[in-house]
Formats: sequence, C-alpha cells, structure tokens
Amino acid sequence: MPSILEVRSNRHLCLNRCEDHACYTGDLDKAGCPMFRHPFMVDNNRDCIVCSRCIKNCNKHSVHLNVRMAPQELWDIEAPRRPDSFLIVSLGAIFFLFALHTELFEFIHQLQQTHPAMLGRLPFALIGSMIFFGLIFIFQIGYYLTVNLQASLTRIDRSLILRLLGYGFIPIILGVYLAVYFEIFVSQSWRLIANFREIIGLAEVQGGARLISPDASALIQVFTVAGGFFASLYATHRIIDRLKGGGVITRDLVLPYSLLFGFTILFIFFMKTSRIILF
Ligand code: SF4
Ligand code: SF4
Repeated sequence: MPSILEVRSNRHLCLNRCEDHACYTGDLDKAGCPMFRHPFMVDNNRDCIVCSRCIKNCNKHSVHLNVRMAPQELWDIEAPRRPDSFLIVSLGAIFFLFALHTELFEFIHQLQQTHPAMLGRLPFALIGSMIFFGLIFIFQIGYYLTVNLQASLTRIDRSLILRLLGYGFIPIILGVYLAVYFEIFVSQSWRLIANFREIIGLAEVQGGARLISPDASALIQVFTVAGGFFASLYATHRIIDRLKGGGVITRDLVLPYSLLFGFTILFIFFMKTSRIILF
C-alpha cells in the first residue's frame, strides 16, 4: 500500500465499453488476475502484486501503471477494513520475534530449564507458538485500548478509528523491516557469488566481504527507520484529520503520536539489542 506504483484502470471505459472483463477472468490462453481483483473496482493496492497480467489482458488499454505519491492511499482509502489494521498491528508484534529470533531460542531454552515442571515437557515449537500468538494478542489488546481511549477523547466513531488508525503504522513497520533486511543484504550478499560459483562447479567460497561498512549500513538503517517514523506521523495526522473532518487536531494527535513514538523507541531498542542495527 505505501508503494509509489499503482495499477489502475479507466473506470468510464470499463463500465461502458467492456464486454469480456478479461483483466479479471482471463481467457482460454491467459490467466486472469491471480489476486481476484477487478482493476476498475479498486482504489487501493491492498492485494495487487503488480504482476501486470491485467495490463496485458485488457485489449482496450484501460489499465495503466501509474507513479503516485507513495503513502497517500493510507489515509485516502475509501473502504478501510478491520482485518487490515489487525494484520498491520500483528506485523508490528511479529517484528520483535523476527528481530530477536536467535535470542528467542535461548530464551525458550532458559524458560524450560527454570520451569521444568511446567514447561519442561512441552514441545519447543509449542512454547514458541505460545509466545508468538501471545505477543500478537498483547499488541491487539494495546491497539484496541488505544482506539477506545482515542474515541472517548475525540468523540470520533470507535469502529472507524479501529479500522483506519492502523494504516498510519504501516510506514514505521515497513521501515524497521526494511532496515533489518538491508543489513542482511549488505552483510550476506557475497553468498550470491559463492552460490553461483558452486552452481557452475567452481571451488567453494567460505566467506566474503560486506558491500558497505557497518557504520555506513547503520546510518542508512537509521535513516530508513526515521523515514518510516516521520511518514507514519504524517499519515496519522492525515487519518485523524479525515476522521475529524477538518479543524484544529493538535490535541487529538497526542495519543497516536505517543504510541508511534513509543513503538519506534522499542523497535530501535530491539534492533540494537539483537545487533541488527550496528551503532
Ligand atoms: S480493465 Fe480492460 S478488460 Fe478489465 S474491465 Fe476494464 S476494459 Fe475490460
Ligand atoms: S497487476 Fe496483477 S494483481 Fe494487480 S490487478 Fe493486475 S492482474 Fe491483478
């Protein structure tokens, strides 16, 4: 959804001149949309994987790949859905296990050793799953309570905040995941050449150099997380502005901004603890 690309069609053309709807259904030779999207009915990137099948299938040239202001859809989305905010908040929770996965193994082993009567007989995977779903549950409860508090403070419809506010967290969550993958990429990309050598039968390579230094990588990671944070602040500002229907919203932003700020500090702390961010 925060992509700078979007696949959209000319609705007028689709509604008035199309008879086959090949973008969606495909035909005997070509498959239709793998995500079951009908391009003329969508206003968001929620399910689109930009495979471009609809562009190729449409013989009326109605579908286009557009460049747009990246996160606009986060606050402009016409039909916000509760499952989306559920997924976004869950992704925020999962990040901590993702960032700390090595430490998590040790943590579970320690738990089993310190509580042998209670946890010693439980399978390792079951304890891991309980922590995984438990963390998601805690985050969902936290989000739900925040939404309720925000609704009572601002007198905005609670169900609307519940559906819409989560979209504002997408940039910061995307930012921290990108920061993690960036470090993995710059430190491990030598394996591409090693694997290629192995495929063509050359001698194995046991190690390789980083693409950039740890300091440079850390700086880029900080910019990525900071970019996500500020984009989230802006998206949240636009969401609250939309929910309030204009006017002064400074006080209405205090709670969601505090939550975002707390999240970002937590993300950075965990990334530092797990040595994903190297400063
Ligand atoms: S995108 Fe093309 S194939 Fe799909 S409904 Fe519109 S005109 Fe028809
Ligand atoms: S680009 Fe692919 S996923 Fe997106 S609407 Fe077109 S066919 Fe569907």
